[in-house]
Amino acid sequence: MATPNPLPGPTPELDAALLKRYEELQEKLRARRSTEPIADVDRAFYFAADRHSHQRRKSGEPYMAHPLEVAHLLADMQLDWVCVATGLLHDTVEDTSATVEEIKALFGQEVARCVDGVTKLGRVGYRSSEDRQAESFRKLLLAMTQDIRVVLVKLADRLHNMRTLEHLKPERQRHIALETREIYAPIALRLGMGKIRSELEDLAFSYLEPEAYQEVTRYLESRREANEGFLEEISEALEKKMRENEIPARIQGRLKRPYSVYRKLQRQRIGLDEVYDLLALRVITDSKKNCYAALGVIHDEWRPIPDRIKDFVAMPRPNLYQSLHTSVITDQGQRFEVQIRTEEMHQMAEEGICAHWKYKEQRTGPDAEDRRIAWLRQLVEWQQDLNDSTDFLSSLKIDLYPEEVYVFTPKGRLIVLPRGSTPIDFAYAIHTEVGATCVGAKVDGRIVPLRYQLSNGEMLEIMTQKGREPSADWLGFVKSSRARHKIKASLNARRRERAEEIGQKILEREARRHKTSLARLDTEDLLAAAHDYGCSQMSDLYAALGYGRLTPRQILSKIERRTHPEIEVEPEPTEETHEPNRAAPQAPLIVRDVDDVIIYRARCCNPISGEPIVGYVTRGKGVAVHSKQCPNVRNLMYEAERRIEVEWAAMADARFQTRLSVYVDDRPNIINELTGILSKESVNIVKIDSRAAAAPDGPTVINLTVELTDVAQLDRITRRISQLPYVREVSRSGRI
Ligand code: MN
Repeated sequence: MATPNPLPGPTPELDAALLKRYEELQEKLRARRSTEPIADVDRAFYFAADRHSHQRRKSGEPYMAHPLEVAHLLADMQLDWVCVATGLLHDTVEDTSATVEEIKALFGQEVARCVDGVTKLGRVGYRSSEDRQAESFRKLLLAMTQDIRVVLVKLADRLHNMRTLEHLKPERQRHIALETREIYAPIALRLGMGKIRSELEDLAFSYLEPEAYQEVTRYLESRREANEGFLEEISEALEKKMRENEIPARIQGRLKRPYSVYRKLQRQRIGLDEVYDLLALRVITDSKKNCYAALGVIHDEWRPIPDRIKDFVAMPRPNLYQSLHTSVITDQGQRFEVQIRTEEMHQMAEEGICAHWKYKEQRTGPDAEDRRIAWLRQLVEWQQDLNDSTDFLSSLKIDLYPEEVYVFTPKGRLIVLPRGSTPIDFAYAIHTEVGATCVGAKVDGRIVPLRYQLSNGEMLEIMTQKGREPSADWLGFVKSSRARHKIKASLNARRRERAEEIGQKILEREARRHKTSLARLDTEDLLAAAHDYGCSQMSDLYAALGYGRLTPRQILSKIERRTHPEIEVEPEPTEETHEPNRAAPQAPLIVRDVDDVIIYRARCCNPISGEPIVGYVTRGKGVAVHSKQCPNVRNLMYEAERRIEVEWAAMADARFQTRLSVYVDDRPNIINELTGILSKESVNIVKIDSRAAAAPDGPTVINLTVELTDVAQLDRITRRISQLPYVREVSRSGRI
């Protein structure tokens, strides 16, 4: 974590102390007697030492001392050579001229990926002190990790940085210590690395609350000798009692750590001299029966403190943690805590489903995350049992939070979005207005398309423009339901506005046709008429007209009957081209993002699924959908505001009636061959008729009315029929 200081002058010789420490690392690795390529670790050391040769730590020692110590920690954790090499190389990409490509060429894909991962984790700075952000940060770090070794190296790196934090400025110390306490210690805990976690916590404690730390450690130190002596004494006494009662048991004893004592002080709002159970003992026996037997023996020997007996054996915690807890007091007034469990319960508590961290963090109920962490932790434990675990670890690709992505605002706020989210989702997560007026986005300073898929750890900047409105296209790629709802809402509002405008125009024109005008019509009359159709305001009426749920004639005829005999309402003219096609029950069509509208295929062209189409708001009959090639479209579209975007909806059994005219030279077997082609495609034939040639040399026309699934099927059938030798032409007629 220390910024390397460039050192002018020639490359200094490798420090003797450094070399000696490196030899110790080699010895550690050789002692494993594994088949690991120690030569690669060797090359990694010299490569890193060379690249860091001009750099020193704030402490004054060669920079290389840091990666070397990190490698030692990893070797002590019994991790594989990839981890150790990554430990040696982990700062070369961030702090020297080395590149990931170079590392890949020299040390292979595995090491390169791990070094890259550690480098990326290092760039994610914890910039907030908000509690709820800490949890997201922990998840982010784990989510960024596709290889668990990256986290392990990062933890070792952090541990060494914490051990050497004294050389930094107080401000940096505080920042790093806070990050360690909030982010890294909990991660270590979850991964079952209790030892590292304890050390990280105690170190962070010493920097964050130096006075309290001093006080607690001084107190613990003052009691250490007495406590250790007492612990030994009690352990022996316990062992003896168990033997006498023929309870097979092993005893573990420990003194509480400074940070855990401190937390207890805070939690219980008590003074140091009131913390009695600085000592804790564990009795591990063979059976549930003997757990209770041991409890009886202990209570027989020492006086139990009331209300401190907890039976998690009969009633396990939600995370399956099981143990008997009791606190007792000696005749001399000394108190200590005892936990009693079977070997099996012990294993579960130590290695199992993060029972430990959940117990301490007072969580309830296992969830999906717990299960993933438990699995991860299990993997870490398995690999420590293996002698040569490289293959095992390298085959491991983890994705801890596959349904989420974690990104930052420019101010460092962490935003959690569904995986696959885009800058639009991010913008809506910031603020509805930011989402609605979003016109562009930068990711880590680089402009990206709005449909760009965000990755963990990226920093986003959203560009907005006043007066901009969300586009319907966005619905095609946004991932968060928040963005989706907001976009739909504003599109619907805009469509409704447009429908109202159209509705008003329609009504006005219809009124004019009947020699009156909207102005001359009484609003109350209109509303009274509209009321029967469920519209209580003029805007509802206009919208109903605009969406085509209502015809202006329906309204006007009501008014006419009531109060305006001067209005002549003619019978509804037949607008054949717009009449709903009653042969097709429910057309698989949708007006984009509008649910409540009548929609049908125009009879003039009968478009079929897959064909380019356009919608047209008719007078009072909903939306007519025409093929873009329909000759009527040109005529209809002079009223541009009536145009509306439509698209085909997926509908499993949709069938479209279409009429094909086949022009052929007369042949006896022709109908058979045509129906053969159609039945191969499972096309239903509704009607066949044929007309003899008009001229002696002219073709015979066979008209087929068929039910097709989509335009692709139409193309296939047309092609096959055209390929018949005696077929001159196949054409599709719009009308059925
Ligand atoms: Mn480092």
